[in-house]
Amino acid sequence: MYGHKNVADLPPGYPQFFSHGRGSHLWDVDGNEYIDFMCSWGPLVLGHHHPKVDEAVKTQMIRGDVFNGPTARMVELAELLVDSVAHADWSMFCKNGTDAMTLCVTVARAATGRRKLLIARGSYHGIGAWSSADLPGIPAEDTSNTIYFEYNDLKSFAAAVGEAGSDLAAVVVTPFRHDIRRDLEPIDLSFAQELRRTCDRAGASLILDEIRCGMRIDLAGSWEPIGVRPDLSAWSKAVANGHPLAVVLGSDSFRDAAQRVRATGSFWLAGAPMAAAIATWREVREADAIVRMAAAGGRLQAGLTAQAHDHGLKVTISGPPQIPFMSFVGDIDRARADCWTSACVARGVYLHPFHNWFLSAAHTDKDIDQALEATNEAFADVARRYGT
Ligand code: PMP
Repeated sequence: MYGHKNVADLPPGYPQFFSHGRGSHLWDVDGNEYIDFMCSWGPLVLGHHHPKVDEAVKTQMIRGDVFNGPTARMVELAELLVDSVAHADWSMFCKNGTDAMTLCVTVARAATGRRKLLIARGSYHGIGAWSSADLPGIPAEDTSNTIYFEYNDLKSFAAAVGEAGSDLAAVVVTPFRHDIRRDLEPIDLSFAQELRRTCDRAGASLILDEIRCGMRIDLAGSWEPIGVRPDLSAWSKAVANGHPLAVVLGSDSFRDAAQRVRATGSFWLAGAPMAAAIATWREVREADAIVRMAAAGGRLQAGLTAQAHDHGLKVTISGPPQIPFMSFVGDIDRARADCWTSACVARGVYLHPFHNWFLSAAHTDKDIDQALEATNEAFADVARRYGT
């Protein structure tokens, strides 16, 4: 087992293999049922097995999925996305977040004729070599054009801009800081504005990695509420409610470069995932899914805060309610988080000890109440074992 879905790094009790899912619930191969607060690590924005998405996929599958060229779903989806996402004038489709992020970088480099990429230390942008410095199998030359800055730190950003000099192609950033193994942190408005100003001044591209946040914060783009628009953005995970699709969206000034780069894949233009994306996007809008996720996540966050307080345990609740996280203060060796999440999983609530969680529109008040019963008992376990 490889990658982030390997449970070897998780505390005891996490299942490795799953059997099926319905709405906000999933079942492992041993028949254990869980309320799912990972949503397949993000994609299940409407919950498992959503009837409207299933229907759209079935209809397309009967006609066929992969042809000698795209289906009409590609045009319908492109129009829908360009109408919805404020900065977008055009779209390109691929399969995974890594594809979409790497395409953004390639388009930015083609548009500017430059090489340097500025990325925040600790941010995850997929497994492309350009964002994989110091990892096994990645030669140093492959990351020699990547310069790091600290998220929300103007001074370190200015130093990185200085190092890039006249070779700055793009600044790559996530809508908020959602690095693994740490509390989540909102973007500082002044920091986002400085990234925008720098890119405008340098003629570089601002790339927003929407892969984790997309469709959970704002359908016009996760930075629309703060009024900062990227030039290019990469979306995946939630766009087709679990069906394999990723999207690059761009503004007009990058259209020419997007048409010039090499961008293709055997399955990139498959019709069924695009049909799923159209159904997902419409349902998220019509069912007010973001408001519902925020409400459910807010009840979860409030419940956890109250319970931790009652047990005399110090925790940090972070992130927007739709993409929340909780850590124990001073839990350096992660013992409390492991104990707590392990106890939750044993009681049928699937949370993660060191990666943010995801809400879906399928989470009901009943789910949250039921989950909070389990989390309360799990807090008692932590207090008994580690004290307060
Ligand atoms: N960027 C971010 C912010 C992500 O969370 C992920 C996936 N966790 C990726 C990029 C890469 O996406 P994928 O795994 O689909 O290649």
